[in-house]
Amino acid sequence: MSSSATLPSRRFTPMEHVSNALFVAMHAAVLLVFFIPFSWKLLALAIGSYGLRMWAVTAGYHRYFAHRSYKTSRTWQLVLAVLGATAMQNGPIWWASVHRRHHKDSDGPGDPHSPLRRGFWYAHLGWVFDRSVPKPHDESNVRDLMRYPELRWVDRHEWVPLVGYAVACFAIGAVPGLVWGFVVSTVAVFHATMLINSLAHLWGSRRYATPDGSRNNPLLAALTFGEGWHNNHHFCMSSARQGFFWWEIDLSYYTLKLLSWLGVVWDVREPPASVTSRRHPSPPSARRRSRPHPRDRRMTARVIGGA
Ligand SMILES: [Zn+2]
Ligand SMILES: [Zn+2]
Repeated sequence: MSSSATLPSRRFTPMEHVSNALFVAMHAAVLLVFFIPFSWKLLALAIGSYGLRMWAVTAGYHRYFAHRSYKTSRTWQLVLAVLGATAMQNGPIWWASVHRRHHKDSDGPGDPHSPLRRGFWYAHLGWVFDRSVPKPHDESNVRDLMRYPELRWVDRHEWVPLVGYAVACFAIGAVPGLVWGFVVSTVAVFHATMLINSLAHLWGSRRYATPDGSRNNPLLAALTFGEGWHNNHHFCMSSARQGFFWWEIDLSYYTLKLLSWLGVVWDVREPPASVTSRRHPSPPSARRRSRPHPRDRRMTARVIGGA
């Protein structure tokens, strides 16, 4: 059973056809790096641009809009929305709506992107082009965000921040600035984010027997500023902190903590004290050996079997 079993299929709008074509063009345009002389400045621009937008997706789209795991002012909320929309992942309300559906039935029939049910490539990329995923969005689970007209505007005109960001990169470094600062970094942010939908439900350790396939993976956590502690996150999704222990590096959480000291954000939610005060959490080697949840075993067997 797939997400199309729960939501009717539909036709792409002309705007979606344009955006799908641009998505493919962005990937092809990455090849332009081979025609531009390398410079450390361009690499720094790409890394800085990746960092800014990855942060906007994880700390903004995910931990704020989808989970409301901390509070902030209406102005800063708008900043997060606009910044997130520069990452080519649609608007904040759409993103939150899809992600809330993911948590409501993770790796179940209602999950829009489960690698255990539909395979790695569907969870990583295929679902983006699946017409059963609603757009503009399913409003039923995002009424808290729909109250803000400025968020609805960003959601409807998500291409404005995206194009604005591209123009800014062009202004900074002409065509080489556009390619490295916008194209390369946007595609990298996109795939790093999608790895959480795909790989973080397949590869890594499981500390908690959540009723899904979520995993903790330090490599993915480094790439995505803390999102790779995905089993932790599924265990306690309301927490703004996803690396529960000091060795679980979580850059987004550290920056949110810093912003809370500056008064920009507040009520930053933590995991329950009973979780983080454990003196002897099981070592990673023991966790790797831990048996997966029976439902995970069933679904993994199905994937291995070619479902
Ligand atoms: Zn997940
Ligand atoms: Zn989440």
